[in-house]
Amino acid sequence: MDTLRSKHIYKVKILSPNMEVEPGDLVEVKTKKGTFRGILMPKHEFSDENIIVLKLDNGYNIGLIPEEIKCIKKGIRRKKKSLYKFEKKDLPQISIISTGGTIASYIDYKTGAVHPALTAEDLIFSAPEIEEEANIKAFVLFNILSEDMNPLYWIQLARKIKDELKESHGVVIPHGTDTMSYTSAALSFMFSKLSGPVILVGAQRSSDRPSSDAYMNLISAVRVAKSDLGEVAVVMHATTSDDHCFIHRGTRVRKMHTSRRDAFKSVNSQPLGEVRGNKVIFYEGYRKVEEDVELYDKLDEKVSLIYYYPGMSGELMTRMLEGMDGAIIMGTGLGHISNEMIPLLKDFIRDGGVVGMSSQCIHGRVNLNVYSTGRKLKKIGVIPLEDMLPEVAYVKLMWLLGNFERDEVIKLLPQNLRGEISARRMIIW
Ligand code: GLU
Repeated sequence: MDTLRSKHIYKVKILSPNMEVEPGDLVEVKTKKGTFRGILMPKHEFSDENIIVLKLDNGYNIGLIPEEIKCIKKGIRRKKKSLYKFEKKDLPQISIISTGGTIASYIDYKTGAVHPALTAEDLIFSAPEIEEEANIKAFVLFNILSEDMNPLYWIQLARKIKDELKESHGVVIPHGTDTMSYTSAALSFMFSKLSGPVILVGAQRSSDRPSSDAYMNLISAVRVAKSDLGEVAVVMHATTSDDHCFIHRGTRVRKMHTSRRDAFKSVNSQPLGEVRGNKVIFYEGYRKVEEDVELYDKLDEKVSLIYYYPGMSGELMTRMLEGMDGAIIMGTGLGHISNEMIPLLKDFIRDGGVVGMSSQCIHGRVNLNVYSTGRKLKKIGVIPLEDMLPEVAYVKLMWLLGNFERDEVIKLLPQNLRGEISARRMIIW
């Protein structure tokens, strides 16, 4: 037995003779407070020596101080496979394409460190109950933290989704939460038609922690992937308790807290719906699945996303525009930057660049008609981007420049294509 492996074997008194217990085994644990049955979860480097974590049937993890542990059934997924397939009659097939992040992280249970999952079986270990929901085809496409995502990964992912939708009803994509909304926006624009739901899902706490949100998020995502939603969406905890998840439109969602389980919010719009237990409830106005899939997978990476701040130098602005085909500016308030910047933008636009203005306020709508700065910006050709989120505008501009001529890009950038812009009176905080 190698040392990494033996480090994570629980050295406690067991009733079944000649059996050690390992993460993944179904066990019965006797404690001072009673007897509990569940799947033994992995320890990680911060685990208390005396506490073990059990995943109960209802999906909750609990920490216990064991007096005795009895092994009921050895883990059945000991042999690692790169493609996991589970089939049962009368259930739709759902593909789970893992890209990494915390949701798939605990799973590196042989070392205890928090790393993205390496195998498909590891991936669904956090919620074995999903096998009751759908015929699961799971595999790992990338094994990265989402801060390492980039447009080339988005393109690869989009092509893989298109392949999977040939045989699966829907697709679930476990993803790091940090940049999940960039990926959801990119996929939203790249697919002009979808034959099944494309659902991104993440977790703020890894699955080996008692407070993990991974289980409920993943199982809720699979439930939405079985629906008739023809859009890219993000499914995450709606509140800090484990009562329901929200279904957020891929172009409206944002991570609004560093650590809370309800970090994801729909901005300037309502969520598309919610998942309560096994009920998927849509509010109004979602796009339904179509017969086929249409993918426009070109992206022009020469786009800057520029956060303006007081004191920003013209020199820095010039450098951020150099060699670019377009820029999205996160201006102050209604969409402003210092007057010093205006001639620089004017030159950039004259030379063929496309500039869109969003607001660092995040909530609310850009308006370049109110103050003199705004009017000057509009006059030189800066495009006000209504209530579109800055990172969504950034991805949209990359997509437009990759697939359309400049005149068309200028026309389409401020238009609502995928629910990313709402009509004037519909602003919801
Ligand atoms: N920073 C990592 C990521 O975004 C981990 C955070 C998470 O998955 O929530 O992939």
